[in-house]
Formats: sequence, structure tokens, C-alpha cells
Amino acid sequence: MLSDFLAEARARCGEAHVSEGAAIEPRYLQPARYAAGQAAALALPGSRDEAADVIRLALRHGLRVVPQGAHTGLVRAGTPDDASGDLLLSTERLRQVFELDLLDRTLRVSSGFKLSDINERLAAHGLWFPVDLSADPSIGGMVAHNTGGTRMLRYGDVRANTLALEVVLAEPAGQVLRLGQGLQKDNSAMALGQLFIGSSGSLGLITEVTIKLAPLPRQRAVALVAPASTGEVFPLYADVMQRWGGLVSAFEGISRAALEAGLHGQDLARWFDGQLPDYAMLIELSSELPAEQLALNELLQGWLEGEFESGRVRDAVLDADEAIWGLRHRISEGLRVRGKVIGLDLSLPRRHFMAFRERGAAWLATHFPQVELADFGHLGDGGMHFNMVWPLSAGALSAGQELTLREGLYALVAELGGSISAEHGVGPQLQAAYRAHWGRVEPGVLDWARRVQLVWDPHGRMGQVDWGP
Ligand SMILES: Cc1cc2nc3c(=O)[nH]c(=O)nc-3n(C[C@H](O)[C@H](O)[C@H](O)COP(=O)(O)OP(=O)(O)OC[C@H]3O[C@@H](n4cnc5c(N)ncnc54)[C@H](O)[C@@H]3O)c2cc1C
Repeated sequence: MLSDFLAEARARCGEAHVSEGAAIEPRYLQPARYAAGQAAALALPGSRDEAADVIRLALRHGLRVVPQGAHTGLVRAGTPDDASGDLLLSTERLRQVFELDLLDRTLRVSSGFKLSDINERLAAHGLWFPVDLSADPSIGGMVAHNTGGTRMLRYGDVRANTLALEVVLAEPAGQVLRLGQGLQKDNSAMALGQLFIGSSGSLGLITEVTIKLAPLPRQRAVALVAPASTGEVFPLYADVMQRWGGLVSAFEGISRAALEAGLHGQDLARWFDGQLPDYAMLIELSSELPAEQLALNELLQGWLEGEFESGRVRDAVLDADEAIWGLRHRISEGLRVRGKVIGLDLSLPRRHFMAFRERGAAWLATHFPQVELADFGHLGDGGMHFNMVWPLSAGALSAGQELTLREGLYALVAELGGSISAEHGVGPQLQAAYRAHWGRVEPGVLDWARRVQLVWDPHGRMGQVDWGP
């Protein structure tokens, strides 16, 4: 019974930290994208042990537990949807542990800490957690969605930077389990923690994370580069990687429509003399060495001058690091002003990246000529936000139209060996596409995923993703 759960959870967490139905603050129910959800109750446990008891109580009273961190996820996985059966468990108050090991350069941290809090505290030690993005997620949510971000090319995703987890399980309900000891090297056990990374809250609640840290760069050099044609983009990428490898911390691709969205309301003349290219690359070099020892700006400028001479580069903007990143981070917001955004978070093998752009654009022009394509994203690691705008003038986009559009493009992604969720994870918003994709690519994966999910959560009471067929 819900009323019994509420009474027992309030006794355990305190009146102020358990709310029900209409009393739940809207921010817990309104995701960054898509429609608001609903929940029977919201609990904000203030410790790992309280969280374990809340899970025990919820399962005993027949509720499903939907974990939520900072609620910045883009696939609606942390937004509950059942007003009578979902308990929203926010990790906001799980902030007890912050243990820094400077020699090992690791941090053991409670899952409710936000990325900005973590990096603020680390800055005093010249360190940071380098999975970097324009949102401010919780570290638990980052693990649950295996966040990628703009500097993945150099530092890797959350998976590459996670050494251990502590989780609270649904079966046996409320059991606390430490997965890993936080060592850089450890082959002494099965890597069970890996299963929780990218599991979208479906296997258990992550209460603590041990992550690897990196030294803060002492300098960055950023350029926004217009290639002579899109055919030059990957040769230029290969050249940059060959020359500077580990110094390359970002290599983003931005289509002209996305550039226009990012420059919305700004002085266009400042950029490429007002002649925006069809495609641009944001290239960033960074180093822990100071500029007196390694002059990154000069390296980048010298290379660009050579490429300008050779004809592979048409133009470039330099010495405007913040403005260039500001442009990149404003794209999504700029697109929203134009209409309804349909965002596809894809990745492709580099050899098919440009072919996908061309074939995807051609498919759209045939089937949905009213849609404006504005793709951009983490080109260096094969990531592409294939974002489209359904203009206000085209009337409402029906659910059926959106499904047809997504399915058409996802079929092309599968044909070219790509992924339908590069870094945003899987949630209710992608549930059907996830099944269709693996049904096409390797159906056996779905059967095995179901088996694994049943081991950790045999009654289907954790999270909202069904990994099975
Ligand atoms: C402006 C903007 C830019 C973004 N840019 C990027 C980007 O560049 N790269 C990228 O990868 N993502 C990006 N994202 C997506 C988002 O920030 C990430 O997916 C992030 O990791 C979500 O973390 P969160 O704390 O907000 O999780 P939530 O949204 O609260 O939850 C996400 C999922 O994690 C689960 N979860 C949360 N906490 C826990 C826990 N403690 N234990 C178990 N499960 C848990 C939830 O149930 C849900 O399934 C962006 C989002 C926005 C709004």
C-alpha cells in the first residue's frame, strides 16, 4: 500500500524528504527534453543506509524504483511515468563521501555529487574529472548513462574512468555491494561493476563511485576551422591526430545550419567574414605544460597556415577560445527557437561518417522535405548529433511521423555499422529503437541482456529500461 510506504519512508528519512503525488516539485518530473512525467512518491534519502531501507520498503509495498540524479538525461530514463506505482528515488542528498587520494589520483565520492561540485573541489589540487559537457549531471547519473562529452577523444568516457562502485541491490532487496577496490589494475575478480555502467538505473542504485582524475590542463588552443570541402574533414582529422595525438582534446564537427543556430542573435561578420562554411571543425589542443614550454597556439596557427597554403583549409577563427566553445554549446538552444527538435545521438565508424551525413540528408529530402537538418557533434570519436528541426510552419509533428522518421534513419545507421545511442544511454524514449536496432544487428544480444537483467532484478522493479527482446 502506498500509504504504508509513505508512513514508513517518512519515519526513516524524515517528513521533509518524502513527498507524494501532486506535492512533488515539478523539477523532479520535467526532464531536459520531452514531456513531464508523474510518480506516486518522491524520496530523498540522506545516506546510503537510508537509501537501502527506502528500496527495501518500496519493493515490499509493490512500488517500482526509478533512480534520479541531476535529471539532465536526454532519453527520459530518470523521469518516472506511473502515478500510482513509481517511486522516484533522488540521490540529491547522497553527498557524504568525498575521499581524495592524491597519490593514486583517484576520488571515492557519493553518487549525489554534481560534476561542478566535484571539479570545484578538485581544482585546488590542480585536478579534474575530465568527462566534460555543457550540462551539470550527478556522478551517479553519469555512471548510469556512461556519459561521453566533448573531451572523450583524449580522456575517454565514464567507463574508461571508473574504478569501483558501491551499489544497493533490488535482489536481495537493499543489499549493499562494493564492486571493485578502486585500484588502477585489478584482474582478481569478474568486472561486475562494468554491467552497471550504462545500465540506466535498471540493475540497482549506485551510491558511491571511485573515479580516475586527470591533471588540469595549463593551456588550451582552440580553432574553428572551415575546410575547403567536407571531403577534407577526415584527412585533416587524421593529420591532426598523427601530429599531436594525446594533445588533441576535442575535435567537433558543426554543419552550417548548426553554426547558424549557435550564432543566433550574434554578430555574424565576426565569423568567417560573415561567409559561413558548409561545415566547420572545432579543434582543441591542450596540455599540462605551460605555454612557455610548449606553445600550442603557435603549433595550431602554424599548421593552419600550412593547410591554408595547401588549399585544404578555407578559413579559420583563432584566439577566441571562449567564444568558439560558447557557440558550440549554444547550438541546441538555438535550434529550439526554430521549432521542434528531433535529436538523434548517433555514432558511426569514421569511414562511413560522411556517407551517413549525405545519405541521411538525401533520405530526409525525399521523405521529410519540411525538416531542416542541423547536425553537429563529437566527430573525433565518431559521434554525431543528427539533430533536425521540424519548423513551426509545418504544424504539429505527429507521433507516427516522428516514428517513421527515426526508423528510416536508424535503419541507415544499422546498415553502416553505427550506434543509435552514442552517449545518451537508453531510456523509455529509445526503448523501441533499441529493440529494433539489436533485432537487426545481433538479436542474441537481447536474449543475453534479459538474462543478466533478471539476475539483478528478477521482479522488474528497478529503473524503466527493459533490456530484453
Ligand atoms: C545541455 C545538455 C548537454 C548534454 N551533453 C551531453 C554530452 O555532451 N554527452 C553526454 O554523454 N551526455 C550529455 N547530456 C546528457 C546528460 O547530461 C547525461 O546523460 C548525464 O550523465 C545524466 O546524469 P544525471 O545525473 O542528470 O542523470 P538523470 O538524468 O537523473 O538520470 C539518468 C539515468 O541514470 C539513472 N541514475 C541516475 N542516478 C543514478 C544512480 N545513483 N544509480 C543508478 N541509476 C542512476 C536514472 O535512473 C536514469 O536512468 C547532456 C544533457 C544536457 C541537458
